[in-house]
Amino acid sequence: MEPAFDLPLGRRQFVGAGLLAGAGLVLPGCTTTSARTTSVQTGCLPPVNVSPERVIRTVAGLRPYRASGFVVRAEPLGDKKIVHNYGHGGAGITLSWGSSRLAAELGLPGHQGPVAVIGAGVMGLTTARLVQEAGFPVTIYTKALPPDTTSNIAGGQISPFGHYRDDKVTPEWRAQFMAAMDYSWRRFQIMVGDDYGIRWLPTYEESDTEGPHPLDPYFPDVAKLGQSEHPFPATNIQRFNTMYVETGRFLRELTRDVQIAGGRIQVRTFATPAEVQSLPERLIFNCTGLGSHALFGDRELRPVRGQLAILLPQPEIRYAYAGEAGYMFPRADGILLGGTFERDEWDATPQPEDIARIVASHQRLARAFRCTA
Ligand SMILES: Cc1cc2nc3c(=O)[nH]c(=O)nc-3n(C[C@H](O)[C@H](O)[C@H](O)COP(=O)(O)OP(=O)(O)OC[C@H]3O[C@@H](n4cnc5c(N)ncnc54)[C@H](O)[C@@H]3O)c2cc1C
Repeated sequence: MEPAFDLPLGRRQFVGAGLLAGAGLVLPGCTTTSARTTSVQTGCLPPVNVSPERVIRTVAGLRPYRASGFVVRAEPLGDKKIVHNYGHGGAGITLSWGSSRLAAELGLPGHQGPVAVIGAGVMGLTTARLVQEAGFPVTIYTKALPPDTTSNIAGGQISPFGHYRDDKVTPEWRAQFMAAMDYSWRRFQIMVGDDYGIRWLPTYEESDTEGPHPLDPYFPDVAKLGQSEHPFPATNIQRFNTMYVETGRFLRELTRDVQIAGGRIQVRTFATPAEVQSLPERLIFNCTGLGSHALFGDRELRPVRGQLAILLPQPEIRYAYAGEAGYMFPRADGILLGGTFERDEWDATPQPEDIARIVASHQRLARAFRCTA
């Protein structure tokens, strides 16, 4: 098992890396009983209706992962200034507003005139909005627009995990991480609602973590549940609350917000830093995600592939879970079943065998649901 901090999900501990190993996918200690549908108040939860026939689409995306953490740094680019804002691994939605705010704070003071942002994923769009809010005109230059970005594929849980290795980061970077998390946490809260597709949900997670941790403020109302308080076939279940972002809707709205505020968007691909330098703007934000591997030669930046199976929507599912079986996030556009965390996989296409395993794993979990109230 890999160190917990390096995994995609989990309050502080998550054992879901076993999905592709093909064994032991169901939460430990499971007993097979017929699933029952009751209410959350009784400790029972309606199970997800999982079957291959209910899969409406499958997706795979490449998380832009750096063991030493995301890059928010300003440097000269010839006679221009470039601020990098990329490499957020499996936590780019979570950290977006905060990381982009750090980037804006590095770039904007003392600057005059229009600003360029490269990339239209979550980092590019949030950076562009913050630049506009600070009063600067902005143009986004990008190879691809939503819905064709990695950000659109993200499950959208606000959870600061799966983006660095604990033994590779510096105290200075940790301070950036905490500052980014703090602002994101507050910014997402004021956007909750149907417009941006953001909502709070109780989340059940297989974890035996205890004791104080710097990230505790981002897990409000966390509780360790007894066997009678949840329907999962597992012994160590914790429940906390967090926000979930329907990424397609969120990114569409952000794109509109940029345009309503006068921002321009130009489809353009950059092959070299020299091409970036030839832009008319004197301040440039690099929000190219995994694209920075080729464009700026960041070899530490590596893909971590994630695959999802999406089931028909089930509006009565108003909770999420994560554990040995994988994770489940319910959204208006479907029930997301994940998830894999495959290092150094550059092929962003869903693999039918892996998808079948994901579906089978969640199906076993749903069948083992028990109602103990
Ligand atoms: C399966 C999966 C599940 C995930 N779940 C979550 C989650 O629940 N919570 C969470 O917080 N995060 C999650 N993530 C992580 C999140 O998706 C990423 O961290 C985030 O999308 C990175 O955003 P970005 O804007 O940096 O990159 P991207 O979304 O990849 O955007 C990069 C932009 O740059 C452009 N670009 C790239 N190269 C060039 C170039 N050379 N020239 C011009 N333009 C260029 C691209 O076209 C694109 O517009 C998940 C990821 C995956 C794959």
